[in-house]
Amino acid sequence: MAAMIVGVHPLAGFDKLLHYRVPETLRDSVAVGSLVRVPVLNALRLGLVGEIGPPRDFDVGKLKALAQVVYPFPALPPDLLELARWMAGYYACGLDSIIETMIPAAVRNGAGLKQEKLLAVTQRLTAEELAALTKRAPQQAKLYRFLEQQFRAQRKALVLARLGQTAAVAAALVKRGVLREEVRRIERIAYTDEHAHGELVAAQPHVLNAEQQAAVAAVTASLGAGKFGVSLLHGVTGSGKTEVYLRAIDTALKSGGGVVFLVPEVALTPQTVARLRSRLEAIAPGHRCVVWHSHLSEGERLDGWLALATGEARVVVGARSAVFAPVQNLRLIVVDEEHEPAYKQDETPRYHGRDVAVLRAKLTGAVCLLGSATPSLESFLNAQHGKYRLLQLLQRVDARKLPHIDIVDLRIEALKQRTLPLLSGKLVGAMQARFERREQTILFINRRGYSSSILCTKCGHIEECSHCSIAMTYHRTDEMLRCHLCGDQRPAPLRCPKCGAPDIRWRGLGTQRIEEAVRRVLPRARIERMDSDTMGKKNRFREVLAQFRAGKVDVLVGTQMIGKGLDFPNVTLVGLVDADMSMHVPDFRANERTFQLLVQVAGRAGRGDRAGEVVVQTFTPQAEAIQFSRHADYAGFAAAELKVRQDFRYPPYRHLIHHLFRGPNPEKLKFFAEQWAKLVEKTLGERVELRGPSASPIEKIKDEYRWQLWYFTNAVTKVVPELARLRAGFAWPDDLTQVLDVDPVNLV
Ligand SMILES: [Zn+2]
Ligand SMILES: [Zn+2]
Repeated sequence: MAAMIVGVHPLAGFDKLLHYRVPETLRDSVAVGSLVRVPVLNALRLGLVGEIGPPRDFDVGKLKALAQVVYPFPALPPDLLELARWMAGYYACGLDSIIETMIPAAVRNGAGLKQEKLLAVTQRLTAEELAALTKRAPQQAKLYRFLEQQFRAQRKALVLARLGQTAAVAAALVKRGVLREEVRRIERIAYTDEHAHGELVAAQPHVLNAEQQAAVAAVTASLGAGKFGVSLLHGVTGSGKTEVYLRAIDTALKSGGGVVFLVPEVALTPQTVARLRSRLEAIAPGHRCVVWHSHLSEGERLDGWLALATGEARVVVGARSAVFAPVQNLRLIVVDEEHEPAYKQDETPRYHGRDVAVLRAKLTGAVCLLGSATPSLESFLNAQHGKYRLLQLLQRVDARKLPHIDIVDLRIEALKQRTLPLLSGKLVGAMQARFERREQTILFINRRGYSSSILCTKCGHIEECSHCSIAMTYHRTDEMLRCHLCGDQRPAPLRCPKCGAPDIRWRGLGTQRIEEAVRRVLPRARIERMDSDTMGKKNRFREVLAQFRAGKVDVLVGTQMIGKGLDFPNVTLVGLVDADMSMHVPDFRANERTFQLLVQVAGRAGRGDRAGEVVVQTFTPQAEAIQFSRHADYAGFAAAELKVRQDFRYPPYRHLIHHLFRGPNPEKLKFFAEQWAKLVEKTLGERVELRGPSASPIEKIKDEYRWQLWYFTNAVTKVVPELARLRAGFAWPDDLTQVLDVDPVNLV
């Protein structure tokens, strides 16, 4: 028989395919996508089988042998391997880094695998034999007699402890063939602890309204067609998108398929999982829903992964990286809150979970369902162009009204209070009324608060770049305003250029200051704060949410992490303390983010029977993002904002690539960034438009200076490989680090 040769991608910090000979004994367990151990230099390294077949122009006799196959099934099914190759080209990173992202560390090192040993009798002893054994080795006889009376295999550790025996006693009987030892995998199932109880809500099937029925029918038809398709489900907050997802999942499971369900943030997962679990148990008894997110222990992750890879479980719910879960016969990928920037990974590989979900569905021939109350303009434009099918839910379930939105003009409030206001009179009054009635309040503070822009607290004016239509960045060191897209600069004004007021350098507020302000006006209220500082611990956010749900907290203060998709029927007031902070972030998506935030926040109020109220505090009440959000007018906002994007040829009309240069020497950084930009301009010409290089908005982090360059292009798949080729040939100095980010979601 001819020798079997495989090409392996070693996970050893370099991007190459190496060839190995497969020993006879391993032949049957090797496939494309298998996780293996291979000799690289003088050590055994993990690797992934990328192809089967002999290398051209290589002496087969000289090949080293593959050492081990880690799992008896492919760790990456063919669709994921193809996806990995596409991602390597598109996001300009090594295939090894993508494979390492796709296969969790717990799975790669297998260290978390928790097993227990069982003992059972294999060979019954005759009365004479037992008598002889009792005489010769009384302890062995005792163990044998105990196990002989059991119906099934017993846990070794327990039995030995109970009989007060050592492992040597069992080993002697195993050696003689009287007992057999089995190994069983113990599963740790996430979220079956005490926190899950408060989260089992609204799990019964609902009666669908006409819009939901139409959406379900459309998705069911796509699933029935058995081929790739993307649907964008635009549903206003409270319109019952989850119910549509559940019906689609049900259909996919009943046809024998697997499902990936993505949620943007961990905070959302417990509730979604609890809901899915109870619904799946009702409609499809025996289905297990695997949970996948960064807070899992290694063991939990490994168990979940194995359950999916072996087909024991067919549904996975999780954050971004769950898009790589080894679900068998994948039929449906749901991306909830598809507009969320959290889907983009901010370290290598810098992929976008939603975009990768669409591509995985395409490679697998599955259906991708993107859902949001405020779809990203990227997805909305795809729907307008007919690439995605648009499904709309414009009614709230039970025809509940959207909450009333009050806009508080902080310019007037500042005059009234004669100081910069934290909480307006309107908001304080509304909170006190809620406290008297034992109803709950959520206060949002903008996490993306960015204090380096300039905002006039008298007239709401924001200094913008006239070329790029984004806020200018204030650089304290030399008192300059700079546009970090095109590099344009001018001296920072001391007075507002519009109204002449001197109060133009307003900084944002922290959650802690707001919490203190709330304590002053509501001294008897129970207040909890939730932000990334206080939520470091694994279960802390779930504890706080469970307390809030149980009515043990009156006011919850936090960043928008608390706002997404959480259902709290007793919340009748939502306050947005600083609506401006997201609008003067120097980013062309600032308006889109503000609109999304306002609509999502408003959607948190009045989800129960009682009407909700929303109070939005702002220095710029006339801004489009605020005006359109008052009526939750997504179509109106999208039309206005897409016009601006088209005029400036920003995404979604072109792709954007960010190139960051870091190093200890600012002059050197500038010099090399400029040389590089010239080379790119000369080589790529028309295919790419460059802006910069210029100093990053945050010029220095941890003693390293930062410069950046932006590329605008219509042809990422042509431009990125070109950039990668040029990058490899360019004479970079040793102390300069550079990072490419394709389709960044944040400009700062
Ligand atoms: Zn002004
Ligand atoms: Zn500019």
